[in-house]
Amino acid sequence: MASVPIFASRSLATTNPLNLLRNSATLRSLPTAQPSFLFYKNLFRRAPTVLPLNLRRSLCHASATNDEEASAKAAAASADSGGPTIFDKIIAKEIPSSIVYEDEKVLAFRDINPQAPVHVLVIPKFRNGLTQLSKAEPKHTEILGHLLHAAKVVAEKEGIMDRFRVVINNGPGACQSVYHLHLHVLGGRQMKWPPG
Ligand code: 5GP
Repeated sequence: MASVPIFASRSLATTNPLNLLRNSATLRSLPTAQPSFLFYKNLFRRAPTVLPLNLRRSLCHASATNDEEASAKAAAASADSGGPTIFDKIIAKEIPSSIVYEDEKVLAFRDINPQAPVHVLVIPKFRNGLTQLSKAEPKHTEILGHLLHAAKVVAEKEGIMDRFRVVINNGPGACQSVYHLHLHVLGGRQMKWPPG
């Protein structure tokens, strides 16, 4: 069964989006165990563009309605505390990562859950309050420019100069999950527009 009828009904669109997800023919193979937040998050990101924008936004929101929501909210709430994130451990090489590019200011490494054949994260080594782009101040302009240039270097090294996208998710409404500014460099396949 195609997924279209599921979203054709206005009344259905007002039901719990998680139920829509579980009923979707495209999702019949979902495990019965409670999927992780990351699972729903990536499901949302991969949601076909036939889904109405408001529903896709609902799915993003609905993906954080259980234990993981508490974790995500806690992460967002403590974002300004200066507490370490998983990226600090990666910068410190306390946990391994596949490094693509590194200089004195930035580190670029492959995303653990790639959304494209090339999916590299570019982060400042010194966060300096940049938990998210909305925290940017004039003092950050140099590192912001450096990050963008590093994204271009990554694209060059990865051989995707003619087909790459740079994404910054800002805040829970954009599904930001790590509060250490990072650029996603995505490519290696045809990118779609509008993005999910
Ligand atoms: P955000 O959702 O905040 O925009 O992006 C965070 C990204 O960090 C996600 O794409 C996620 O897959 C990635 N990520 C989370 N933890 C790790 C990790 O331990 N290692 C790597 N390489 N990537 C991670």
